[in-house]
Amino acid sequence: MSSSPPASPSPASPSPSHCDGTHPDLGELLTNCVHCGFCLEVCPTYQMTGDENNSPRGRLRLWREEHEGRLSVDPWTAHYTSECVGCLACEPACPANVPYGEILEQVRHQHVEQARAKPRLSLRLAAALTSKQWLFNLAMAPARWLRSMGILPHRFLFAGRPSLIESTAQYATRLMKQHRPTGPKVALLTGCLMEAVFREINFATIRVLIENNVQVVIPPDQGCCGAFQEHLGLDGVEEMRAQNRTAFEPLDLDAIVCNSSGCGLALSKSLTDRVPVRDVLAFLGDLNPVRRVRSPGSTRVYVDLPCHLIHGQKQAGIPANVLDATGYTWELAPQARDCCGSGGVYNIQKPENSREILAKKSTFLNEAQGDPVVLATSNHVCMMQWNSARSGGLVKRPYIVQHVIQLLDPGDDLTVRPADHASRLPGNAQ
Ligand code: SF4
Ligand code: SF4
Repeated sequence: MSSSPPASPSPASPSPSHCDGTHPDLGELLTNCVHCGFCLEVCPTYQMTGDENNSPRGRLRLWREEHEGRLSVDPWTAHYTSECVGCLACEPACPANVPYGEILEQVRHQHVEQARAKPRLSLRLAAALTSKQWLFNLAMAPARWLRSMGILPHRFLFAGRPSLIESTAQYATRLMKQHRPTGPKVALLTGCLMEAVFREINFATIRVLIENNVQVVIPPDQGCCGAFQEHLGLDGVEEMRAQNRTAFEPLDLDAIVCNSSGCGLALSKSLTDRVPVRDVLAFLGDLNPVRRVRSPGSTRVYVDLPCHLIHGQKQAGIPANVLDATGYTWELAPQARDCCGSGGVYNIQKPENSREILAKKSTFLNEAQGDPVVLATSNHVCMMQWNSARSGGLVKRPYIVQHVIQLLDPGDDLTVRPADHASRLPGNAQ
């Protein structure tokens, strides 16, 4: 756990709140905590340190005391804020419904505004690039190319073969013309990092949706969901949300689907309730997806549940009928509901903490049954984190990291299923 004394902050008067009319009043939100401590045992940073200030309750107390002027602007407050993974495990544990994620977002933004937190230059540059997807795609082309060649020089680059030239939008248009599904109509959020580096997951998502007779559109003017900026406390989130409202809301859709739980959570904050934002696996669960038929084998899939799916989006998990439809023997990974330590960019900003959190979860892979062993989840950032367990000796045996949607992928065998299942969508029950 990193605990070096923080540098003194530049003098700054505490900003009263993120007062732009788009956020609830911070002072009011901070009064909701009743100090019961039910959140302590689910918090990974409290589990690691046993330090009250490194717990949700401790951070809330520091923020409130500072906000109300009872604590002078203190470098340790910024330090303990930066130690938070942002996993949101404290939200469902809280009987007083403290909206910890909303508070954290506002506090992070304040700390950057007041120069008490300074995200590293490379992250600020990457965040700036995400506001122009074509530029981000260009900047990340070398990583996409390396992956497509099977060269994985960084611990976060998991194996996969993304298309170098064809975009997800072009691919979806091509497949839609070829297969002409007639069922429910969805728009897919393509994502910034997902599209730039890991777009084979977007391609698999399109194949699975079309196979299940779902019509897929890719709104051309969509942008990054803003989660990157949000994690770093940077400006620009509201502009990104506005862009996505303009891109998605006028469309006549049954749902907007996301294949990354973090992006799905961020997008759901951007849009009104007119069209539901759904995790693609939950959406497929309602359709009872086509089941892959596999010859018996020793492959064993261990499923890990992203924090932003179960705590952020408050989903029970990944639907069992979807996992069954992969055709593989699967089980939940031990501690599947605990954080893996990725936390958006936490694993870059706090690599030691992040690794300590991952170590606790990942060592089971050394002894796991199955050949091959597959670790499957539904967030590309968690996939990057799980892949990093092979570096530095956390996991010493081979394993494969996959998105669950890839385990459902028909690949070149795609044929659209006969269409009577649109009736299974919520609201269309017959
Ligand atoms: S978001 Fe996660 S790390 Fe941060 S206080 Fe809540 S439980 Fe702890
Ligand atoms: S569980 Fe909720 S009310 Fe209780 S200490 Fe934690 S944040 Fe405060």
